[in-house]
Amino acid sequence: MSNKKFIERTLVILKPDAVQRSLVGETVKRFENLGLKFVGIKLVLPKKENVRMHYTVDPDWIRLTGEKAMKAKENQGINISESAEEIGERVLESLIKFMTSGPVVVIAVEGASAVPLVRKIVGSTEPLSSDVGTIRGDYVFDSYAMADINNRAIRNLIHASSDIESAKKEIKIWFDEKELLNYSTAQERFIYDVDLKNILQ
Ligand code: ADP
Ligand code: MG
Repeated sequence: MSNKKFIERTLVILKPDAVQRSLVGETVKRFENLGLKFVGIKLVLPKKENVRMHYTVDPDWIRLTGEKAMKAKENQGINISESAEEIGERVLESLIKFMTSGPVVVIAVEGASAVPLVRKIVGSTEPLSSDVGTIRGDYVFDSYAMADINNRAIRNLIHASSDIESAKKEIKIWFDEKELLNYSTAQERFIYDVDLKNILQ
């Protein structure tokens, strides 16, 4: 096996809306189709502390999320009186409410460039402007504007880690080390094998 240095892990969470809308199979299928591997997968009812920890593994997340929300409001021509931090805190509280409302599926995904590949399949934060072909773009139409009116978290079905370091920390929050399995799949032999030795008999 060459190409080992490209192999990384990322965390996917199928949020309560994905479970409630019976979209677990449909979403999981996309990662399998691409050739990525699940090294841990389970149904969990998230605790408040875990959700808070998860979204603050990046200490800048609150400010950055607030800034992203401010930009979305500016685009709608809405005046903003709160700071980015205040908006970010409010988003975090709404996310805690959303993520603890029902079971979620947590998945540790492994493969070459798994972090950016999973983000690509998932799409951007706001489903309304997420690309066609992405999970968020294809299965949900929520928007910043609709979420804002009810002061709730955007329902976008799925979480995906944004970078390798966050992924490592997030995986630790949701999985015990012994729940993550090291194994190979039949297709990996074809994807990563340079010699293609084991096909013809
Ligand atoms: P992503 O999930 O695309 O990485 P973020 O890390 O910025 O996005 O935010 C985490 C989650 O918080 C989003 O997936 C979404 O559910 C929710 N969220 C983010 N920004 C807002 C907002 N302005 N209003 C409501 N919910 C938001
Ligand atoms: Mg994020």
